[in-house]
Amino acid sequence: MKLIRFGLPGEEKPGVVTDNGMFDVSAFGEDFGERFFETDGLARLQSWWAANGAGCPSVPAGTRLGPCVQRPSKIICIGLNYADHAKETGAAIPAEPIVFFKSTSSLVGPNDNLVIPRNSVKTDWEVELAVVIGKKASYVDESEAMDYVAGYALHNDYSEREFQLERNGQWVKGKSSDTFAPLGPWLVTKDEISDVNNLRLWLTVNGKTMQDGNTSNLIFKIPFIVSYLSQFMTLLPGDVISTGTPAGVGLGFNPQIYLKAGDVIELGIDGLGTSQQTAEAWKK
Ligand code: ZN
Repeated sequence: MKLIRFGLPGEEKPGVVTDNGMFDVSAFGEDFGERFFETDGLARLQSWWAANGAGCPSVPAGTRLGPCVQRPSKIICIGLNYADHAKETGAAIPAEPIVFFKSTSSLVGPNDNLVIPRNSVKTDWEVELAVVIGKKASYVDESEAMDYVAGYALHNDYSEREFQLERNGQWVKGKSSDTFAPLGPWLVTKDEISDVNNLRLWLTVNGKTMQDGNTSNLIFKIPFIVSYLSQFMTLLPGDVISTGTPAGVGLGFNPQIYLKAGDVIELGIDGLGTSQQTAEAWKK
């Protein structure tokens, strides 16, 4: 299944996507958040859809999409998880995953505008595969970790490099501005992706290819990451884990390239759809 949330910001309704288009499943009566996932919502929705899908209204093309999951308890990111990206930033390949948080208030729809934060001169892009957790995970073995995954979504881990790297302290400062986490278009359930370790992921700025990688190059794979994180914290249903970005971010160019108002950023991952953001300047 492919799950969407659509409508005005803060008033999103749940929907599903099929080969025939987008459909409103508000009549199912639940949003795609923690409670939905923890009560086996994916299986319940599947059964409900089989019985009721034919009567669901379609969602007009061009309707705004919101983030494909309701605001989660946390967004956890893995840093430097592609060797070519570690190299371009001048960092060593990590011996253990680098873990940082991104504020949940940074979450937006996949095609919403990117707001360049006030006083930012180093706003950068990062195409990433995000994992959505399907059930509560604490001290999970790697061999069982995939049982805790609901599915996957496209994510752009926008990053303000001055805030992240030059202002001391944790990376969270450069990762958490409003609009810095466009998620979607869809949550794709894991059964729809035959090999999550072989998906092309790419990103363009104003039509020029900047990133073109493959999840086969992930240093730490998804089962390891889920198991690893669950040793340090409980992962709740609906939580988002962003698994890192391949080479080609603005920080890695010489001279460095950063986003400015009017720039158009497009990205995609095989099987997970595409998204597009237009950059705009912060205003009161
Ligand atoms: Zn990232």
